Amino acid sequence: MMLRPQPSSLAYVPFVSVENMMRLVNAIGVEPFIAGLAEYIEADFRRWPEFDKTPRVASHSPEGVIELMPTADAENYGFKYVNGHPKNMREGYQTVTAFGVLSSVGNGYPLLLSEMTLLTALRTAATSALVGRYLAPEGAEVMAMIGNGAQCEFQALAFRALCGITRLRLHDIDPAATRKAARNLRAQGFEIVECATAQAAVEGAQIITTCTADKQYATILSDNMVGAGVHLNAIGGDCPGKTELHADILRRAEIFVEYPPQTRIEGEIQQLAPDHPVTELWQVMRGEAPGRRDAKQITLFDSVGFAIEDFSALRFVQARIKGTEFFEPLDMLADPDDPRDLYGMLQRAK
Ligand code: NAD
Repeated sequence: MMLRPQPSSLAYVPFVSVENMMRLVNAIGVEPFIAGLAEYIEADFRRWPEFDKTPRVASHSPEGVIELMPTADAENYGFKYVNGHPKNMREGYQTVTAFGVLSSVGNGYPLLLSEMTLLTALRTAATSALVGRYLAPEGAEVMAMIGNGAQCEFQALAFRALCGITRLRLHDIDPAATRKAARNLRAQGFEIVECATAQAAVEGAQIITTCTADKQYATILSDNMVGAGVHLNAIGGDCPGKTELHADILRRAEIFVEYPPQTRIEGEIQQLAPDHPVTELWQVMRGEAPGRRDAKQITLFDSVGFAIEDFSALRFVQARIKGTEFFEPLDMLADPDDPRDLYGMLQRAK
């Protein structure tokens, strides 16, 4: 009996390692990858009612959080395991790491196991820029980016690919992070201004992205820093007790969210009354609710990251690895000749 399934076997699960994800993304190109991913995300948002939905299951500790993010449609089930530990970066680890699984609803077998650290950065950026297409002011060219860590470059590239942003104003409390992002993004052809303060970064920006990591109610932006007509893309406030915007900004903004039961616990709006009005993005994408209404409005995407975006990302990767070598067959399913003879299989392997 064969112990190691070969690629022809039905019992292997395609596994996309970090190395293969990098090969896949580089083969496609970061911006085309994000654009393709955004199409999958938008298509899934447009069929939102078809999904099983639940706020993610979070296990909190003083240092961070570990979360499981499940969802399913009639055909596939998906989940992501992801952490958020802002102190990791100071110790030489990623703040956010992740992996995920896509399965068949029909027989429950896993169909794909993938790294999702890179994929999370790509899908978060794709979602932000997709939302930007509905909410950013017309003709926006300049984006302020506050927080220049792991997510930063992906956000910039996504906003160029989907919204035409070419000029960036960068700020981070750690100047080394800004230097890193500036170097990476200048190499990609962006016009960059490195800013010593958040106040300087937002000057003249039509879009403001906040992607900082700090496990507290932080005030990255105060009310006076946000002028009329700006679109805010706030991705770093994504946990109870972890926010980036002063509550007064929220009161002036039209707020757009992924899944209210999760965002009310985790997003910027945890600072507001539980019945404060918000608009669900899937309704905007279906044309059932307005996006940006006028040039003066302040719009806010209170992003926390929802399971359907990961589901879309896994489906996108599943489609794109077909016919490539960017995966390995993983022996993670028992496959006895007689399904009831699991013990016999073990004995024959002696
Ligand atoms: P990271 O640790 O790599 O980078 C965070 C950066 O923020 C660091 O460079 C840090 O110096 C900077 N920073 C911290 N406090 C700041 C402040 N007051 N002003 C300016 N800069 C400040 O983290 P990352 O992987 O880039 O993630 C950024 C944030 O995005 C995290 O909070 C993470 O939880 C969140 N995130 C959200 C989603 C989502 O879907 N909404 C997805 C992934 C990550």
